[in-house]
Amino acid sequence: MKHYDNYIDGVWTQSETGHNVQNINPATGEILGEVAVSSAHDVDRAVKAAKRAQKSWRLVPAPERAEVLYEVARILKEKKEDLAQILTSEMGKVIAEARGEVQEAIDMAYYMAGEGRRLFGETVPSELRDKFAMSVRVPVGVAGLITPWNFPIAIASWKSLPALVAGNAVVWKPASETPFMAAEFMKVYEEAGLPKGLMNVVFGSGSVVGNALVEHPDVDIISFTGSNEVGRAINGKAGRLLKRTSLEMGGKNAVTVLEDADLDLAVDGIIWSAFGTAGQRCTACSRIIVHEAVKEELEHKLLERVQSLKVGNGADERIDVGPVINKGSLDRIHEYVQTGIGEGAKLLCGGSILNEEDFAKGHYYEPTIFTDVSPHMTIAQKEIFGPVTSIIPVKSLEEAIDVNNSVEFGLSSSVFTKDVNRVFKAMRDFDTGIVYINAGTTGAEIHLPFGGTKGTGNGHRDSGVAALDVYTEWKSVYVDF
Ligand code: NAP
Repeated sequence: MKHYDNYIDGVWTQSETGHNVQNINPATGEILGEVAVSSAHDVDRAVKAAKRAQKSWRLVPAPERAEVLYEVARILKEKKEDLAQILTSEMGKVIAEARGEVQEAIDMAYYMAGEGRRLFGETVPSELRDKFAMSVRVPVGVAGLITPWNFPIAIASWKSLPALVAGNAVVWKPASETPFMAAEFMKVYEEAGLPKGLMNVVFGSGSVVGNALVEHPDVDIISFTGSNEVGRAINGKAGRLLKRTSLEMGGKNAVTVLEDADLDLAVDGIIWSAFGTAGQRCTACSRIIVHEAVKEELEHKLLERVQSLKVGNGADERIDVGPVINKGSLDRIHEYVQTGIGEGAKLLCGGSILNEEDFAKGHYYEPTIFTDVSPHMTIAQKEIFGPVTSIIPVKSLEEAIDVNNSVEFGLSSSVFTKDVNRVFKAMRDFDTGIVYINAGTTGAEIHLPFGGTKGTGNGHRDSGVAALDVYTEWKSVYVDF
């Protein structure tokens, strides 16, 4: 059985509590190993180590800091298959998706290493003679990272790589459900030669370890990805301490299918976005807004495709949809489905927990599609975070845009149409941070800003050059000569 301790100041360190917690495979119920349960004292040790280490790291030229990131990329590439297997065993996503996720971390490492040579400031003409006016980017200090379980290495790479290349030190609290990916990623940094103290991992609960990071006076910025509820609570606490926060939270994303759409293409996009990662993505397609003229045909095609999906242990290459993360999640998804039925939505397919012999030890939910859903219903408004999606009929693009925008979140939207004018109208009027044309709601790459509006975020972005804004301050310098 595997066992992992915290990684603090370059040493694998037992937690102060001495307690451990089991890590369980959601597909099989198998105990994979255990991990430390930490206290606020462990967080304090990690923050102190980070603060010490950052003092000299900030003076290392950024291109030299980037050299470590190139090495991280190389090692991730070498270990890609092993990491993907661990990811699937601890989190449940199917193995092809796990490989894709590790690849995302590799891409991010190369991309952010390049940014080490492009941490541009500006030089502007001064109003006065014999004077230079310029601005430079400086690191923020110690970054506290709090990450979710659904993308355990990708999201950690989106946050830690820009933080480090920009000259910060990191204390990371990974999700309790996915500690092994965190430990393995930490090992990659260790092997890449990152100086001690710059990247620390503290395992434990959100309420103890996460909260201690948020409240620690020497943590200068919190970068959080997770639920809206937890993000809002973090923002409240950090706001009182005048601490910067970058919040990436939930989504209630929609695919719009217009009457001129290529329906087969739309079905591909919907199936992948609604049921990939068993619907447990912030960008999952949980609403299908369809023009009434093609609703019936789309339903027919969707039904055919859903019936061919194989649900099971994602470690098996033939499986399309893996388990959901735990029993609590399974029950919550089922409750939403019951609410949908209670509010008058019609089940097109699915709607049950899978608990026959094959599924008995894991947490599996049938891929589920509701139809004839009205935009105000609970299932059309709340983030379900499972393999459940809802068809909402509309009469025009204008109505589709209104429905698309009628939720508290603003992460991802997509439209299927062949009309270039309608493409541009949708692109302009969908009020989400990401818009796809003739593709599903998932599939963002690392070179553009990732994040959303309204209840999804607070204006910051993971990924792209925009990520560097989170981890740098501007300093303006005037030189008289
Ligand atoms: P979560 O319950 O909010 O947890 C996220 C992280 O916050 C975990 O590490 C958790 O620790 C920690 N946490 C919990 N309570 C805390 C507290 N009081 N103080 C500080 N930290 C605390 O979310 P999740 O269930 O892991 O992830 C699913 C959510 O993430 C969904 O809403 C999804 O949409 C969102 N998400 C958003 C994006 C995006 O980029 N917009 C990407 C992926 C996921 P524990 O694990 O120990 O509870």
